[in-house]
Amino acid sequence: MKIASHVRDIPRSGIRDFFEVVQSMRDVISLGIGEPDFVTPWHIREAAIYALERGRTGYTSNLGLPRLRRTIAEYVRSRFGAAYEPLTEILVSVGVSEAIDLALRAVLDPGDEVLYHEPCYVSYAPSIVLAGGVARAVPTRPEDEFRLRAEAVEAAITPRTRVLMLNFPTNPTGATMPREELEKLAAVCIRRDLLVFTDEIYSELTYDDASHTSIASLPGMKERTVLLHGVSKAFAMTGWRIGFACAPVELIEAMMKIHQYAILCAPVMSQDAAIEALERGAPAMERMRREYERRRNVIVSAFNEMGFPCFKPRGAFYVFPDISMSGLTSREFSLRLLREKNVAVVPGTAFGSGGEGHVRCSYATAMDQIQIAMTRIREFRDGLAPGAAGATAAA
Ligand code: PLP
Repeated sequence: MKIASHVRDIPRSGIRDFFEVVQSMRDVISLGIGEPDFVTPWHIREAAIYALERGRTGYTSNLGLPRLRRTIAEYVRSRFGAAYEPLTEILVSVGVSEAIDLALRAVLDPGDEVLYHEPCYVSYAPSIVLAGGVARAVPTRPEDEFRLRAEAVEAAITPRTRVLMLNFPTNPTGATMPREELEKLAAVCIRRDLLVFTDEIYSELTYDDASHTSIASLPGMKERTVLLHGVSKAFAMTGWRIGFACAPVELIEAMMKIHQYAILCAPVMSQDAAIEALERGAPAMERMRREYERRRNVIVSAFNEMGFPCFKPRGAFYVFPDISMSGLTSREFSLRLLREKNVAVVPGTAFGSGGEGHVRCSYATAMDQIQIAMTRIREFRDGLAPGAAGATAAA
């Protein structure tokens, strides 16, 4: 069968390959999954059930229910400090995933370049390529706690660069960006006339003293930014498939053209549930956030004690320990840990070549499972060649 070459040449996701192995095994503790282990809070599920009972089963406006768009505008204004006009500057999508695709397809001409920071979420580079663009990774470094340096962005800009994609807090590193650093990035984007697509899907999940700043709220940025967000992570609603984009009217209009022909609209009962989540979901979300923070503390201490250096991320629900002292590549480490100790983590290289020497562990897993996994990883380390990963010192 002839498959379009730009599709054929895209590699399958490293996560997917790895999870095919996981699925063939029994009794695996998975620290590999990128979704909350919580079920959607009951009052949100109830809102969807009530919508169904009332017979709300049809299409909505292409842009999404007006009531939901007003709710989003208020949520974004109060949380992010950015003001959007609900009926013209907001589009409700099928998850942030669809909104990323729409934004890229709306602005890229063939050969236009998009910068993104790496290690990063697995979908960015393929989505850029599928939209006809050229994906250009800007490496981030463990010594900077994987923050993106404005100088690194500036150095990567060419005459074809159109967009900078951001994702803070970051999947897979948990990196966050303080406001001062975002201001430096914003200055580069304004000076070099770049658009910014900012995926803020983990923005509610911040810890310690890290408060989230959206680059869209900085002076001069709203007009060049697409703010991408959704309910999947903070409200434990991955399966409902609701995301949204906030952007200037012309961009929303362009994205809407693609969305209306490809998707029509996001599911109505999920939109009703999203209204409930954004209007009344804060207490349930805060309970989940506190639990993630407790788990993060346990997992970060455990890795550091084992001799696998791990900075304490202040966002999302991932840690990205450095396993290079094991003498194994991140893929060998993950495969051996899975086969020998039945613990699944994701090789850092699934998130770009800069992830070598690291593995991603999600703490969206129950505390007792995390504790057992940490014991098994310690045993795994002890079984490695002497000298590896501080096997003797910390054993
Ligand atoms: N963006 C990032 C950074 C993610 O980690 C994920 C899911 O893991 C998504 C987007 C997908 O979000 P959604 O469920 O809203 O499509």
